[in-house]
Amino acid sequence: MLPDVEKLLQLQVADQEIRRLHEEVAELPKRIAAIEQKLAGTKAQLEKARAAAKADEANRKKFETVIQDLQGKISKYRDQSLEVKTNEQYRALLHEIEFAQQEIRINEDRILEVMINAEGREKQVKAAETELKAETAEIEREKEEARRVTAEDQTKLTEWNAKRDGLRREISEDVLRRYDRVLKFRGSGLAEVRDHKCMGCQVMLRPQIYNEVRNGEQLVYCDSCQRILYFDPTHEPPPQPVAEPVHLKRRPRPKPDAAQAWFYRPDYGEFGEVLLVFTNAEGTASRCIYDMHSGRQLGDQLNREGNYRQAFPEAFTDTAVRLNGFWEEEEMVEWAAEMPSAALDVLHNDLRAAQREHGRTHKERPATAAEQSVASG
Ligand SMILES: [Zn+2]
Repeated sequence: MLPDVEKLLQLQVADQEIRRLHEEVAELPKRIAAIEQKLAGTKAQLEKARAAAKADEANRKKFETVIQDLQGKISKYRDQSLEVKTNEQYRALLHEIEFAQQEIRINEDRILEVMINAEGREKQVKAAETELKAETAEIEREKEEARRVTAEDQTKLTEWNAKRDGLRREISEDVLRRYDRVLKFRGSGLAEVRDHKCMGCQVMLRPQIYNEVRNGEQLVYCDSCQRILYFDPTHEPPPQPVAEPVHLKRRPRPKPDAAQAWFYRPDYGEFGEVLLVFTNAEGTASRCIYDMHSGRQLGDQLNREGNYRQAFPEAFTDTAVRLNGFWEEEEMVEWAAEMPSAALDVLHNDLRAAQREHGRTHKERPATAAEQSVASG
């Protein structure tokens, strides 16, 4: 990894931490404001309950005064009744007394009602007072906590800012400019490459870019998001365990009586390494020769009577290797003068497998347990 990129990785950590601390510091006053708002709500409730209690008290006093006045009137009427001359006047006074007594009863009922209400009001006031006390204590605790965290955060911020400034001094200017610009628009200036992908924007990288990042010899940017790319080998998934090592795979045996048979010859006269294909069809055998490496057909197809073993005995020397491979006649006609690379690969791979197998059987060592289980399975 380039030293600049290593420093950028540390710078990224510092930048992220500084941002987190700033956010935390900004968050605390908001939390306190929310609690204070709740506190103001509780205070208002308490004020309302207290005001209601006060109004009840005033009403009770007012009703008591009314009753006193009425009682005064009654005693006055009683005095007057001693001095009246006519029955009519007397009845009128009795009527007034009766009316005043009735008014007294109404006001007494009102006082009773107020007193019953007052019990409820008192409970409301008490509850609001308790709540206010608890909330006030809580807000004090929160404020204290906020002060403590903020002080801690400020210390950390100072440390991180110093670390950040130090790192920035060690990184070349144009790299920093690039990092800052992408950071501003995308929230991060660096992106890890994993599994051939930019983890910043999830876009697959071109193989050349991927290799450049892996090599870590130059600064590489993501074509799609412009982030500076880096590769961390410890994050690569471990290589898939090979269930069965290739060299232990048993190669299928070519069928001796197949109508089409492929052979490899390393020494075919002037052509050198070749692939031969023989076909038996209706009493006639045919032979085609292909260049081992290019797959180009060498010479024309040759037909002889009988099956190919009898018809072309000169082909089957000790060096000839029988290969696995089969293609339909129509398909091979389409190949024309050159077999496709896919077919060539099949034959090449089978030849390698045959050679490995041959090498193993000729070493005459005891087969391992794994080999035996593969062979029997
Ligand atoms: Zn990207």
